[in-house]
This record gives sequence, C-alpha cells and structure tokens, in this order.
Amino acid sequence: MVRLKKVPQRVCVGCGQTRSKKDLMRIVRTPDSQINIDTTGKLSGRGAYICRSMECLTTALKGKKLERALQMELPQDVIIDLKKTISGECD
Ligand SMILES: [Zn+2]
Repeated sequence: MVRLKKVPQRVCVGCGQTRSKKDLMRIVRTPDSQINIDTTGKLSGRGAYICRSMECLTTALKGKKLERALQMELPQDVIIDLKKTISGECD
C-alpha cells in the first residue's frame, strides 16, 4: 500500500497543539548552552517548538514553558528575536 509521505509532527509549547514541523519554529539549546532560533531545522541540541504566532509566544513566555522545555533561562535578546521573527512573518 502506498501512502503519502508523513509530515513530521511536533507539539507547540504555547498552545499544546500538534502541528506539522514546517508550521512551527524551532528553538534550540545548543550543547554549549546557547539558545538559538533554528531557522534551518538542522541545529543540534535540545529543541522546543512553537507556532509562528504571537499568542503562543506570549503564552509560552508567561508560563515559562520554553524555559522548562529547554531547561535554561531564556536570554532577553532571544525573546526579542522571537518576537521579531514572528511579527515579521505575519505580514
Ligand atoms: Zn501554538
């Protein structure tokens, strides 16, 4: 039986919904404890996924969900970058 290629699914840390990977942003804690927004999907390290939505980001930040998923404090410049990336993609 031939089936369509499965799109990888990930859970958003903001709303908790499962979505296809390409609809989510990946945030990675690299092995040297840097937090990066992984636009290529190729960075190695512990990753967290979030919808490209300001609502989910706000929820995730409020509930410290990204911190919990990445097991470290989110630097302010990363938060600013996330907001910029999300608002830039909404237009
Ligand atoms: Zn979400």
